[in-house]
Amino acid sequence: MAVPRALAEPILRRKALERGVPFPNSRRRRVAMVYPSPYRAGMSSLGFQWVSTILSERGFSVERVFLPDDVEAWRKARQVPVSEESLTPLTDFPIWCVSLAYELELVGLIELLRLSGIPPLRRDRRDRDPQILLGGPLTFSNPLPAAPFCDGMILGEADDVIGDAVEAFFEDGDLSALAKLPGGYLPEEHGEVLPPIARADDALLPARSRIWTPETELHDMFLIEGERGCHRTCTFCVMRRDSKPETGGAKGGMRLVTPERLMELVPKDAPRVGLVGAAISDHPQLVPLLQALLDAGKGIGISSLRGDRVALKPDIPRLLRLGGYSTLTVASDAASQRLRRTLAKGTTDAQLIACAEAAREHKYRLLKVYMMLGVPDEQDDDLEELIAFTRKLAAIHAVVLGVAPFVPKRNTPLDGAPFAGISVVDKRLDRLRAGLKGCRAEVRPASARWAWVEFQLAQAGWEGGEACLRVTEAGGAFSDWKREYGKEGFPAPWRQEATV
Ligand code: SF4
Repeated sequence: MAVPRALAEPILRRKALERGVPFPNSRRRRVAMVYPSPYRAGMSSLGFQWVSTILSERGFSVERVFLPDDVEAWRKARQVPVSEESLTPLTDFPIWCVSLAYELELVGLIELLRLSGIPPLRRDRRDRDPQILLGGPLTFSNPLPAAPFCDGMILGEADDVIGDAVEAFFEDGDLSALAKLPGGYLPEEHGEVLPPIARADDALLPARSRIWTPETELHDMFLIEGERGCHRTCTFCVMRRDSKPETGGAKGGMRLVTPERLMELVPKDAPRVGLVGAAISDHPQLVPLLQALLDAGKGIGISSLRGDRVALKPDIPRLLRLGGYSTLTVASDAASQRLRRTLAKGTTDAQLIACAEAAREHKYRLLKVYMMLGVPDEQDDDLEELIAFTRKLAAIHAVVLGVAPFVPKRNTPLDGAPFAGISVVDKRLDRLRAGLKGCRAEVRPASARWAWVEFQLAQAGWEGGEACLRVTEAGGAFSDWKREYGKEGFPAPWRQEATV
């Protein structure tokens, strides 16, 4: 059945704007690479593009499928989601490889299954339904709520496992071979006990994208990994050095890619290059790399910057600005220097002041500071310190505070810490906004309600996933989440009040 024009046109339009190396496709060994968020987000995911490339180079016919921008329009038209490459319906692919970046994307996967007429729960599916193989960043912390919806998972770094897993699927007709592969998790076999995560061979690095497009946040940017992992020890972070691989955390340390290797891999016709890595600003050769990119005439983006690096290496903000980077973005992560110390974050007030001075000197549009509210032991005094300190930053340069409520994750030292509570976070946000009135500082908060949902999913097991299905079927409003997850003792042992 032809895809209705109104639904197909946006896909054809964005396809025409893509540059780079298209995925060749045929009717043999077809694999749907599924991203359970819309195209703009999916095409900004380096891991999604990289795994698609690995499978394509292994000889599979890879086609990308994203969650439609307007799910209701597709539901109304009774149209199964289709691939970018050939408008093939998802139901025609025998295997879906799904990348989950964070907890709430589980809703997107459930929607894709429902739009395709496939029973969302594995136990309800029929032989003719596709096999669902999950992977992605969420597998480093807690992928258990996604287990009822998939046939298998690859936990951790899938680079040198995914090809063998899909190969075995085409030989065996199922994913049972995962049991013998690093990071392979079969819900039917393993139950709620997760095996250790996989670690890719360093020789496979760096991950890189093959398609760039103006239709993403990272406008026309070729993404490449300058390093993988982190050598630091922030207690809230899954990427920290001493996360335990046997319990699912990221493996230790940074794995560096040399500037020479990176420059070899950057396509000549890519207008902009985005350097990716949890600790990319700790790369000891970042300055020569930035200079080499500028000399090659490239615009530059960077996935994260540590405030201490910006302060210690003034060439970093200078060269990034020359490469067109316009918002100097760093993380302070906690409201006060005391709390940053307890989180092992280490960034100091003096370093953040140096960031504001660099933003002013190099005429950045804004200084953006990411931080969390509601971290353990946060007191009113910490909030007052944040207000006073932000006013100091704003006296130097215009500031945006990107504020996210703290959500503890599994496989971190703060696993098991409570969520502060929706009303507590909202009150602190109100105080913060009031305290910053009249200065050049804007607060851009993430929703405390959705952070509460994320918290529940971050701590839940399989039953949390089944509740997520009921929520999605009920419409997915916050009241639906509150009804399901607010029940006594469910699903997290640290259930917190959900009052708004
Ligand atoms: S928050 Fe950043 S610096 Fe800290 S451990 Fe995580 S990736 Fe490393």
